[in-house]
Parts: sequence; structure tokens; C-alpha cells
Amino acid sequence: MTRKQCEGLAIAANEALAETGWRAGSYHAGMKSDDRNQLQREWLEGKTQVLVATNAFGMGIDKPDVRFVIHCGYPETLESYYQESGRAGRDGRPSRCVILTHFTDRKTREWFIQHDPVTAETLKTAHVQICRKSEGGPTASLPRTWWWQMLGWDETQSRLALRTLERSGVIERTYESSAETTWKIIVREVPPDLLKQMGADLEKQRKARMDRLKEMISYCNTAECRRETVLTYFGVQGSKGRNGHCCDNCDHPRAASEPAEQPRRRVRMPAQIDPADIHSLLEGIDALRPAVGRSRLGKVLRGGETRYLDTIRGAPCPVYGAFAGCSRKRIDELIADLLNHGLLRTAGEDDYFVCTVTAAGRDAYQKKTPLNITLPKVRKSDEDVDPELLERLRSWRSDQASVEDVPDYRIFSDRTLREIADERPQTEDDLMRVTGIGDFKLEKYGAAVLAITRTPG
Ligand SMILES: [Zn+2]
Repeated sequence: MTRKQCEGLAIAANEALAETGWRAGSYHAGMKSDDRNQLQREWLEGKTQVLVATNAFGMGIDKPDVRFVIHCGYPETLESYYQESGRAGRDGRPSRCVILTHFTDRKTREWFIQHDPVTAETLKTAHVQICRKSEGGPTASLPRTWWWQMLGWDETQSRLALRTLERSGVIERTYESSAETTWKIIVREVPPDLLKQMGADLEKQRKARMDRLKEMISYCNTAECRRETVLTYFGVQGSKGRNGHCCDNCDHPRAASEPAEQPRRRVRMPAQIDPADIHSLLEGIDALRPAVGRSRLGKVLRGGETRYLDTIRGAPCPVYGAFAGCSRKRIDELIADLLNHGLLRTAGEDDYFVCTVTAAGRDAYQKKTPLNITLPKVRKSDEDVDPELLERLRSWRSDQASVEDVPDYRIFSDRTLREIADERPQTEDDLMRVTGIGDFKLEKYGAAVLAITRTPG
């Protein structure tokens, strides 16, 4: 979590807590130490009940009655999660630890690891700064926040740089508190070979961080007992929590395979779409798991992507087929409109871009903000379709079916044919967006169909 996110989250927390009279404070490395100490005091005394903190928050601070530890995004490692969650319930009373993640967090975290700002140059800078601070003496004491305030380095950056120098035997940690660290300088002039070696060490650490992230993600996704998973990780024999309460997975075991509800194959929006229905649409898209890319979303909305229903294995999908009967072009325009209005965005997940609802989109459907979006009209009949083109397509289909000795619908369904006639695809890409056309059919019939649609009637 960045400093800005930390402050933003504290503002949101204060808004949410307004009615209860509770207060939330934000704690990060960018604060003046006076402010930080005051906030810490208020929190220990219970005057500020909620603390929104980055991992700059010191480990040494002991408050026995912390009831909730909530992680916003994946904790850095399972080790740090174990320590951080261990702040809850030191008085032995039941307490809860929650991790809130969004599927886009993974990509963000991977990006940060891959674009790690710690380089051989950073190490050199850190070493020079420590030497300068020592003023020729054997040691130097630096506040934990010094790196951020003087060089703009965030916690991860300074920690990694210092740890690398330490591991290479250039400096040694002799004292550490929640506020500052004292370093003993072992090597004053770093030889170039050693610097190169440290660069290689950084690369190794990057790989290790990626592995730690994977462990953390699999911990979040596990259906096993979380308590046991953590304890096994640290090589400790696990036992159930007191009164039989343990973790979400133990208290609510997931059903092995049977779906909770039968799939709702078609939940149509009314033929006359009210602008307020955009709220339901956004809410429905927000609930889509897994999220889908832009063109697939169009197909799902039009009820054309039956394979998607297999992917979600029977979970209800209220937006599936919600715009059945609308042309592909109009749905594309609607999705473009939602993207342009900042209600949807496309973000990377597992190497392809998916459409997700933005915070503004969520605000829109929750608070029912008025929206200024032109909704696509549901087509009521075939009147838009060029009858002559449709006829030519039908005739081609019938010939093709005879050649292959199969019924007509095995070539293309009536619906697909009508859609082709309506859209008049001019390229293979256009054709791929038509309901019922995948790679296989494109390969087999694409050229023939395009020859027809490209010929003016
Ligand atoms: Zn459990």
C-alpha cells in the first residue's frame, strides 16, 4: 500500500465510521515523527480506534486488545502475515483476521517485483549515505523514515537495499527499534566485484519474492484449514482454535462439487430498457467471476457465449443474455460508452485484458447516480436485415450442408446467419465477433462467408 492509498483508505474508513463515533488514523513512513508518535499514543489509549497503516507500522508496538487485523491486498509473505495477524487478540480473546484482495492485485504485485527500483546504483547510494551519516565513526543511526524523507524510497525499497548490503557483509545491524536502526560499517570502500555480486543477489531476491507471492496467493485461495496451513508452513503441529472456532474454511467448508443453484440461463432485461437498468448491468458485471475480456463480455451480454456458462460451473449469471436480441455493434457501443464514462475499465489478468467495474461504476450502481448513457435498443424483428443477403447466405448454407451431408443448422444456426446478414462482416475479426463463430468455423467457412458479405447485393 502506498502512502496515498493509506491516506485515502483512512478517509473512506472515517466516512464509514462516522455514525459510530469512531475514528481512523493513517500511519505511514511519510509522516513527521511527532505526528506518528501522537497517533500511536491515541491508538494505544483507544482515542483513535482504527489504524490504517502501511508496513512502516512498527512491530514493537504492543496492544493487547486488537480485535481486527485487516489486510488490504495480499500480505507481502506468509511470514509477515503470520506476524502481522499475530497482533490480533494478544489478550487471548477471540479476534479476526481478514485479507481483502481483488484479482487485479496479483498483476500489480508482480509488476512491482519485476520493476523493482533497487539496483546496484541504489545499493551504492545507501552505502554512501550510511557512511556520510557516521561522520567518520564506526556506526550510523538512521530513523526508519529517513530513506523516504530524504530519498523518496518507500519501505520495500529501503528494506531491500539495506538487507542486501547487510547480507553482503558491507554493513551490520547492531540495534533496531520501531523508530530507528543503527548500522555498523564493516566495509567503507565497496570493491566493484562485490557490487556486481550484490546485483546478482538482488536478482535472486526478486525470484524469491515472486515465489513468496505465489505462496501467499495460494494461501488466500486454499480450501484447506488456514490455521493448519500456516502452522504446517512453519513446521508446527496445528490444533483447532478454542471453542472449535478456527477459520472460514473450517467453519464453512466449501461444497465439493455440487453447484449451489441451478444456472439461470436467461435473465432478460425488459424490452424497453430503462437507464436505471445500467445499474443492474454494472452490478452484474461486477459479480462476474471469472471476469471476461471486452469482446467476450459482449457475447455474454447477448447470450452467445455458452462456453462461459461451463466456466462458471452453474453459478447464477444475471447478465448472461441480458441484451439478447441486440446487435453486436450496439453492444460494442454500449461497452465503449461504459469504458469512456469511466464506469468500466480494462485491466490485465493472466496475460489478457479483462473488463472490470471501476470505483465510479460501483458508486453508480450503489448510490444510483444518474447516468447519461444511450442504451442499445432491442431489435424486435428482422427488419434491419437485408433480406437479399440473408437469402444468399441461406442458399450457400444449404449447398454446404449437402456437400457435407449434414443438416443445415450444423453449418450455422439461423441466428448466426441472421446476425451475419445484419452485421455484414468484412474481415475475419468482424466474423469472429458473431455469435456461434469460433476458430474452427472461421477456418472452415470464413472465406466463403466473407466472399458473400463482401459482394454488394
Ligand atoms: Zn481452520
